[in-house]
Amino acid sequence: MKIGPWLSAVLMAWPLSAAETTPTPPKTVLCLTVRNQRGETVVKVNVDTSETPDLADWGKRAGEACTKWTPKISTLLASDGFTPPRSVTLRFQNDKKGVAGTSGDKITIAAAYVRGHTNNIGMVIHELSHVVQAYPAAKEGFAKPGWLVEGIADYIRLYHFEPDAPRPRVNPDKASYRDSYKTTAAFLAWLEQRNPGAVKKLNAALRQGCFKENLFQDCAGKPLDDLWCDFADSLRK
Ligand SMILES: [Zn+2]
Repeated sequence: MKIGPWLSAVLMAWPLSAAETTPTPPKTVLCLTVRNQRGETVVKVNVDTSETPDLADWGKRAGEACTKWTPKISTLLASDGFTPPRSVTLRFQNDKKGVAGTSGDKITIAAAYVRGHTNNIGMVIHELSHVVQAYPAAKEGFAKPGWLVEGIADYIRLYHFEPDAPRPRVNPDKASYRDSYKTTAAFLAWLEQRNPGAVKKLNAALRQGCFKENLFQDCAGKPLDDLWCDFADSLRK
C-alpha cells in the first residue's frame, strides 16, 4: 500500500508576561511539516498570525493549501538543477496595504484584505508561485519581464489551482499580453495547450536568468506578437 506524505502540526504559544496589565493575544505560529515516506522533510510551512489572532483559522487553511501546493507548483515549474523550496512562511500583518507580497520564501499578507475577501485562498497560491519561481534579481543583460512573472503566477493559480472558476474575460481588441496577471495567464494557458511544456521552458529561462522574448518563437514557432494576434483571433471566434 502506498503511504502518502504526512502532515504534522505544532501550535506554539508563548505565555504572556506577568507584568502586563492589558490583555494581549498570545503570539502564535502554526508549523505544518510535510514529510516523505522516508521521514524526510519535503516542506515546512509556518503560519504567523501573532498580529491577527482573528485570522488563525484562515491562516491554517492557507497554510494547509501551501503544504499541498508547494510540491505541485514545484513540479509544474520544474527546471534542471532546481531545488524546490523547503520552507515557506506566511505572515499576516495589520498595517500591510494592498493584498500580499513575497520576498524569497516569505509571504506577507494584508490582514484587512483577507477580512474582506475570506474566500480568496487563490491569492496565496499566486504568492506561493512566486516563492517557487525563485527568479534571480535583474542584472546587466537580463531584465525580468514583470508581465510574464505575474502571468505565470496567475496561470498556476487560475488554470491549476482554480480550474473550475470562471475563466478571465479578455477583450481581444483592447488587451495585450503585457497586461500581466489574468490576461497573460489566459494567453499562457492557450499557448500551453498548443505547445505543451511552453510554460516550463519560459519559467526555466527566467530562473536561469537568460530569458529573451524570442524564446516564444522557439517554443511555439512564431514571434510573440504574432502568437498574441492568433490568441486574440481565437477569442473573436
Ligand atoms: Zn504577483
